[in-house]
This record gives sequence, structure tokens and C-alpha cells, in this order.
Amino acid sequence: MPGVSNFAKVRQDLSHHKEEAMDNLIVAKFGGSSLADAAQVRKVIDIVKGDPRRKVVVVSAPGKRFAGDSKMTDLLIANQVMLARERFAQIATALGIDVDTSDLCQMSGDLLVSSGEYYMGKILAKALDYTFVGASLLVRFKTGGILDMPATKVSCEQFRDLAKRGIVVPGFYGALPDGSVKIFSRGGSDITGSILAAILKASIYENWTDVSGVLMADPGVVENPRRIKTMTYREMRELAYAGAHVLHDEAVYPVRKAEIPINVRNTNDPADAGTWIVADEQLEESTSTAITGIAGRNNFSVIALEKAGMNAEVGFVWKLLDVLKKHCVRFEHMPSSIDSLSLVVDERELEGKLSFLEQDIRAACRPDLLEIERGLALVCVVGQSMAHKPGVLAKLAGALAKAGVNIHMIDQGSSEVSIIVGVENNDYEKAVRAIYKAFA
Ligand code: ASP
Repeated sequence: MPGVSNFAKVRQDLSHHKEEAMDNLIVAKFGGSSLADAAQVRKVIDIVKGDPRRKVVVVSAPGKRFAGDSKMTDLLIANQVMLARERFAQIATALGIDVDTSDLCQMSGDLLVSSGEYYMGKILAKALDYTFVGASLLVRFKTGGILDMPATKVSCEQFRDLAKRGIVVPGFYGALPDGSVKIFSRGGSDITGSILAAILKASIYENWTDVSGVLMADPGVVENPRRIKTMTYREMRELAYAGAHVLHDEAVYPVRKAEIPINVRNTNDPADAGTWIVADEQLEESTSTAITGIAGRNNFSVIALEKAGMNAEVGFVWKLLDVLKKHCVRFEHMPSSIDSLSLVVDERELEGKLSFLEQDIRAACRPDLLEIERGLALVCVVGQSMAHKPGVLAKLAGALAKAGVNIHMIDQGSSEVSIIVGVENNDYEKAVRAIYKAFA
């Protein structure tokens, strides 16, 4: 079982917890593309050995080797156990390492899905001659599946001394109070790395991937977008939440609280400095662009309500949100005017619920008009330097108008860190390219 089989061995190495900061420790997390095959793993070994501070290594499961290939995690979700074992055997054999994956045949659920990280961790630990520490020993969830940070802290502290000598930890999962394995959401190894960096008080949290840092826009949409050299935690979280795939949005919190910089680096180009994600006060003055980055996604719905006198009706929004709560539907934005209000909701949230939700909203809020518009894309433009700068919105709207893109909704919080624009799904790429061209 991931995390437990090596426990006895690891325990012998434990010594008493010391409260000292590990100033010269780097937590280095390697994503699936960095571990897709033996050739990639060799690059990872060189990177780790290239800096003696890289003593805590967190791994994802092997990712895609070529377009159309499957990620290890997807093989495991599809219960393709033999294919998964074959891939691990290929990687291990090419590196001259023995790995016994026969337990995979008896696994199911989160235990099986997390075993891509588990066996990758085993292989890399042997290759580096670091100690393997299963994530069930470190990352703790409460019953119900919420991360239990205090318990995780207590567990991690016990490995502090071992960490100074070099450990490999599989990302993406932890243990529930009954000891069973629970996974994070997809891409969750980033969260594991961030938690470990925060608790062990690392000096840097390195996140190694297959691009040279965070790019200003999706390279699949914009040709050759500029790299962001430095950005703030808040900007990263906004971009990640909006759809930038480079880092899990929940990975920002732990290191942000501990004020540990994140350095996003490229395993295929380790000489490149990548992107630094830092606290506001550490941000270099941005001189070139008003915006930091653009991200977004398709497939949102707008639930639009109109009612004469809505502004005067005490508790109107409360009734609406109560219906959403009843159906467990989260919403992204709530633009409103005097007699109308819209909720922007990810369409995945509405699957199988839409007609019941509609009925209940009508009964609770008694709107004059209720319309549900599907097929909206949200484009999120992020940049702390947009704040207090006149003309940014005008430039953005002008660029979209010139490109023939109709704006369905627009939302800017008072912090002025991001502007969110709703456009039709079909206009999404055109909108991103137009905004990039106007600001980059
Ligand atoms: N292997 C998992 C996934 O594909 C977790 C991760 O890579 O962080 O989502």
C-alpha cells in the first residue's frame, strides 16, 4: 500500500523533531512530463544532483511521452493495470533499477489511482539513493476529505532530519484518519510539494515542468507567448484558477502563507531561470506590460434573473444562494444591476441539476424573467499593475471590438487585480489573441 510498506524502515531513521528552519533546503517537485520515460528521469536525476540543496523531491506519475499517449494516472483510472506495470518496467529497466509492481493487481479506488506517484517515487528514490517516504505518512486528511494541516505538520516534522539527507515523496495523495489513501484533485502533486515546502521551511519551492516558466498566454492559442519573469502569488492563483495549467491553484496557499518563493522551471532547459512567484513586496517594478497574463476556459453558463424592484427586496440574493447551496452548485461571478442579476456557473456544476435548480429558483425568488444562457467562455486578464491605471479596460474592450468579439459580461473586483470577460465559446481563442496583441 502506498506510503505504508516503507514505514518500518523509515521509522528507524527518525530522530527527534527540531524546530530549526531549513534555510538551504529546496523542495523540488517534478511533473509528469519530467518523468514520462527513462530519458526524462535521467534529466531529473542530473537536476537534483546539480544542487545539493535539492533534498526533498516530490514526484507526479509519468505523463505523456508523445501526443496521443496516455498519462499513467489515466491508465490507472481506466484500470489498465497491465499497461501501467509495463510502463514502470520499461522506465525501471532502462535505469537499471528493480521495482516490484505486482501489488498493483490487488488495488482499487484512490489507492490504485495514486500508485502512479507511489511507484515513480520508489524508482526515483533508488536512482538518487534518497529515502522513499510514502505520502500517507506525511499528508493527512480529515474524515470527509479536507486537508488536515495541523496533523500534516506533526507528521512532516518527524521527517525533518531525514529530509536533510534526501527524501523522495510521491505527490497527489495522503491518508484519511483510518489510514486509507485519499487523492487530491488532478494535478495535486503541486499541492503536496507546496505543503512540504511550507512545513519544512524550505528556501525555495521549485516546480519543474516542460515549459520555461509561466507564459503570458496559452502557447496553444497564442504563438510564442512571452514568459513571465516574476509575478505575485495572487496573480498566479488567479491565472491558475482561470485555467493556466502550469500550477494547481491550491498549491499557492501553503507557500504563500510561509512566504516561500515558487520557481517554475523547465526540466528540458534547466539553465533557464523560469518564473519566480513571490510576495507583493518582492515583485520587481513591472515596466513593460500593464498585464501579467491571460488565461481562461470554455463552457460556463449564465443564470440571468430579472425582477422589478430587486434592489429593494431584502434577502433576494440570500434566497438565490440558498437554492444554490441546496443543490451544491458553486458559482464564479455575480454581476448585477438594479433589477437584474446574473450568476456565472461552470457547466460541470450543473450536470443533471439544471431543471431542478431552475424550478427551485423560480419558487424561491419569483423572478419576472429567468434565462439560462449556455456556451460562455471566460477570459481572465490578470495583473497587479493594472490597479489604479486608467485606460486598461478601454484598451481591452477596444481590442475585442476590433477583433469583432462581443462581450457578454465583464467583471472587475475592487482590488483591480483581474478583469474577467465573458465571450461566446467560439470567440474564446480570438479574444485571447486580441488581448495578448494589445498588451504584450
Ligand atoms: N498524476 C496526477 C494527475 O495526472 C497528479 C499530478 O500529476 O499532479 O493529475
